[in-house]
Amino acid sequence: MKNNNNLLKVPNNNSKDAKLKKLFYDVDDSLFNEDNYSKEKLEHLCVCSGGTTSSCAKNGFTTLDLRKNHSKINLDRKTNLVTIGGGVIMGDLLNHLQKHNRSFPIGLSKLPGAGYILTGGVSPLSRGYGLAIDNIESIKGFLGNGTFISLKKNQIIPEKQLIWEAIKGAAPFFSIITEIELKTIQSNPIEIIEGFINLNELSEIIQLSEEFPENISLQWIYAQKIYIYVFAELKDNLEDKKTETYLMLLKKFPKLEKNYYENFNEINFFPKELDLYELNTNNHSEVISLLGEDLQNNIPIFIKCLNEIMKNKPNNSCYVASQQLGCKTKKLNYGSSFFVHRNSTWKPWIYASWKKNDLQEKKIVMDWMYKSWSSLKRFYPNIHLAQLHNHLDSHEEEIRLAFGNRMSELKTLKNIFDPQGILPPL
Ligand SMILES: Cc1cc2nc3c(=O)[nH]c(=O)nc-3n(C[C@H](O)[C@H](O)[C@H](O)COP(=O)(O)OP(=O)(O)OC[C@H]3O[C@@H](n4cnc5c(N)ncnc54)[C@H](O)[C@@H]3O)c2cc1C
Repeated sequence: MKNNNNLLKVPNNNSKDAKLKKLFYDVDDSLFNEDNYSKEKLEHLCVCSGGTTSSCAKNGFTTLDLRKNHSKINLDRKTNLVTIGGGVIMGDLLNHLQKHNRSFPIGLSKLPGAGYILTGGVSPLSRGYGLAIDNIESIKGFLGNGTFISLKKNQIIPEKQLIWEAIKGAAPFFSIITEIELKTIQSNPIEIIEGFINLNELSEIIQLSEEFPENISLQWIYAQKIYIYVFAELKDNLEDKKTETYLMLLKKFPKLEKNYYENFNEINFFPKELDLYELNTNNHSEVISLLGEDLQNNIPIFIKCLNEIMKNKPNNSCYVASQQLGCKTKKLNYGSSFFVHRNSTWKPWIYASWKKNDLQEKKIVMDWMYKSWSSLKRFYPNIHLAQLHNHLDSHEEEIRLAFGNRMSELKTLKNIFDPQGILPPL
């Protein structure tokens, strides 16, 4: 344990500015002592892996930073399974795997850590390989009551089955995961069709994308203007011909250009030209992630709704974006998990950002985020709990919409395995 009144160096600005009570680098018995957390202040332990969310450090709270002592990566060349520490960031994982011509379905950024995997993990490759949680082979870690756990797929005894399923999607509420073993995939070349488009074109491209095969996915971002990426994994000649016929349909959009990458590792989504404010240290932000099925006939109404949302945007740093899942993520043959909205095709997110310390702007921006969420609910009624919001009023509704009919099982697990409420509250 270390006393540390300093700040935590993490990508998320809210967390970076938080004054910690204490900082731990390893799982230590005193972490599980309830006397170390003030009940009046609703204190709990914050866990930091990639440090990309607003919940890995909070003013006056203790953080366990897994990045220092839980950052090993080891690829078994015989099984092609990779073991990573709970503090590994996705960019380091991809770099390591690429040396052996292997890869993993990471998300749109290389910055997130194990939180990306444990909360589900939606990748541009997910339509072909499932969510990140669908690729977990085993885990090691500690429950909120301090008990060590080690679980391996296909060797789970019935008493541990519920824990195993809940780790896949809801781990942060009742466990600290120090090691994860993952399936890896062959690293293949990627073709990307990308560029700026207008709202009418977005409407047409969404319609096309709902027919895409599993190796192609659409991601779009509407910040100042709309930018899209149609991401296609190239596998072999026969399949690549089929891929080309889908990509040919995008030729009619004059501003889109085709780029070829040797592997996923070479791609940087959302480049500087988009002028995103995510890394602006003068700003604080919150993000909410939604889930919904195919838009089909609702595309025109959705586009109208998106237009309204963007017209009411309180400042230039706020945006709405979306990524496409579906195909393999809809199949249940990975075994049950706490990512319950398996019929989802779209994961849009609303990024709300304000000048830090400007409480008036924060209120306006958060109101915009909630209003936008409310108008998008008819298309995307569910939540992907990629960010923990127990510090926000929307927390209860978010967890209900994220875990659906598994909410009571999660509450039971929390009561049994984190009875003192050491970890983030439900
Ligand atoms: C630029 C950017 C792009 C993104 N793109 C995608 C995307 O394409 N797809 C997608 O699905 N998500 C995406 N996300 C969301 C991201 O995956 C989630 O917010 C994720 O929770 C971040 O994990 P982290 O480890 O970086 O964050 P942290 O802030 O370190 O942790 C997030 C939460 O997870 C918990 N946690 C982290 N590690 C552990 C552990 N080892 N054991 C127990 N609990 C733990 C912590 O308690 C914390 O509350 C993106 C986020 C950013 C910032």
